[in-house]
Amino acid sequence: MSDYIIRGMAANNQVRFFAATTRDIVETARSISNTSPVATAALGRLLTAGALMGAQCKNDSDMLTLQIQCSGPIGGLTVTADAHCNVKGYVNNPDVIIPANDKGKLDVAKALDLGVLSVIKDIGLKEPYCGQTQLVSGEIAEDLTYYFATSEQIPTSVALGVLMNRDNTVKQAGGFIIQLMPFASDEVIDMLEKRLGEFTSITSCLDKGQTPLDIVKEIFDGYDVEVTDEIPAKWHCNCSKERYYRGVMSLGRKEIAAMVAEDKPIEVCCSFCKSKYSFSVDELKEMLAKAK
Ligand SMILES: [Zn+2]
Repeated sequence: MSDYIIRGMAANNQVRFFAATTRDIVETARSISNTSPVATAALGRLLTAGALMGAQCKNDSDMLTLQIQCSGPIGGLTVTADAHCNVKGYVNNPDVIIPANDKGKLDVAKALDLGVLSVIKDIGLKEPYCGQTQLVSGEIAEDLTYYFATSEQIPTSVALGVLMNRDNTVKQAGGFIIQLMPFASDEVIDMLEKRLGEFTSITSCLDKGQTPLDIVKEIFDGYDVEVTDEIPAKWHCNCSKERYYRGVMSLGRKEIAAMVAEDKPIEVCCSFCKSKYSFSVDELKEMLAKAK
């Protein structure tokens, strides 16, 4: 696994940045869910955003969920990440196939169409924080930029990209989040606006062999760039039979009794990693005896 995130400050602490290379995460997601190219692109962008925003978490135990509910044929996407940049995700309809857009690119916006982006942060408070915004473009990076502007009031530039090989495996994936600090000068704001306007694409930079740091340094050419952390990022699903056991138990006596009455083992499948867990009739009987 070679995915990682760098985070740091630039231009005399007026800007903070997060930049990632996430090919292995996205390729793992693709192979688990056998996603179509447009579904790989959409899920890969959201997974990359999850990894980048995981790196923004303040506490070790913080959890982040990015969820898109939409009317397009992809149906919806869910990504979760933790503060250590462990991410996992799935799309509702991994088989979605739609024509390329007028630039000949995978049409993620068309796959999503209208919808809502939710950012749910569990930072150990009684209720998780939830910010919601309408999708503005369905290209995901722009939607997150809009989320940061409206829900967190932070001027932000988000770039996310997934580049496919001819055989539809993932060639490159990555992204960055660049955020202005409240005291950023007009000079720095103008410089960033110009350079980000000229920026081509994150995956073409990665494909040229540039690292996340090379890309950040190029954007901030002539200004100081200080990396404070480099964090390995990876696909990780924390599901287990124990977790599903607790899930079934939480359904309560009545539901479990109904399962026992069916007299058949039950099988549950993890939405994220597709692992299957089964509970025998005897196990269900034991659970019923313990259930409240
Ligand atoms: Zn799982």
